[in-house]
Amino acid sequence: MGMGTRRKKIVEEEPSQSPSLSEDGGSDSQGEGSEDAGSDDGSSRYEQVREQRIKENMERMHKLGLLDLSLKLKPPKKNPPHKKKKTTPEPNLSPQRRSSRIMTLAPVNYNEKRVRDSSSKESKELEIFIPEGTNPEFYTEEQEKFLGDCETAWELYVDGYDEDGNRIYDPIKGETCHQCRQKTLGEHTQCNKCELLQGQFCGDCLYMRYGENVMEANQNANWMCPPCRGICNCSRCRRGKGWMPTGNIYSKVSKLGFKSVAHYLIKTRRSESDELEGSASGADSTLNRLSTRTLAQRDAEDLRE
Ligand SMILES: [Zn+2]
Ligand SMILES: [Zn+2]
Ligand SMILES: [Zn+2]
Repeated sequence: MGMGTRRKKIVEEEPSQSPSLSEDGGSDSQGEGSEDAGSDDGSSRYEQVREQRIKENMERMHKLGLLDLSLKLKPPKKNPPHKKKKTTPEPNLSPQRRSSRIMTLAPVNYNEKRVRDSSSKESKELEIFIPEGTNPEFYTEEQEKFLGDCETAWELYVDGYDEDGNRIYDPIKGETCHQCRQKTLGEHTQCNKCELLQGQFCGDCLYMRYGENVMEANQNANWMCPPCRGICNCSRCRRGKGWMPTGNIYSKVSKLGFKSVAHYLIKTRRSESDELEGSASGADSTLNRLSTRTLAQRDAEDLRE
């Protein structure tokens, strides 16, 4: 807050300062003549100091001029972050600002670390571990056929979020998502079969967990919710089947080449009789290759022993 008002002042000072500076510049040209004369007494030192001040003034004005110009060019909404960027090199920051800046920097540092160690960590990062439940988890061919698709990718973390990227929870206007159980604004599905609350999925959940676009689902008069299709992978439905919740594995399954969590689960856990038939999509063949390699590695280890 204090920074904001201080900055404003600086910017406001600029126009009033510029005429006085041009006056200085004018007298400066006079000073150049005396410099040529090469006076060596106190008056020349005075000139040097004065010139130095003018130089500094010019530089400062230059910076302010640029700042002012860039502020004028940017749309008003984008000004605050721009101002912040400009202020970062200032040395005398209050401790409050410093700590808040460190907080925003922290995730960046973390990401850099992850990128650096990625070669050793990558295989571990893509390991998906779902604790075993009371029942074995297998899927039928019919369930695989019930996997959805979309023509247009759904943009995650936008619909139902505010300008700062925070999800908007609204206990009154919001709709509860069957998957994430959050009452949020934004597009939600409606099931044409059950027409129940269980058919309400938010756009992000529908895309990450089932690979479907909520806008397309809502234009499709035959769209059925994942629970009605028997492929719901929400924690409650999974527990009801004796399976443990998957946790947030979307980024992992996505990196492995699967369209969604549902695609990953169903394509990797088809019942054995179906597996022998071996339909191979891209992700399937990748997985087969991975598992073959693992088996080969195991064999090699066995031989060594
Ligand atoms: Zn949701
Ligand atoms: Zn339904
Ligand atoms: Zn469910």
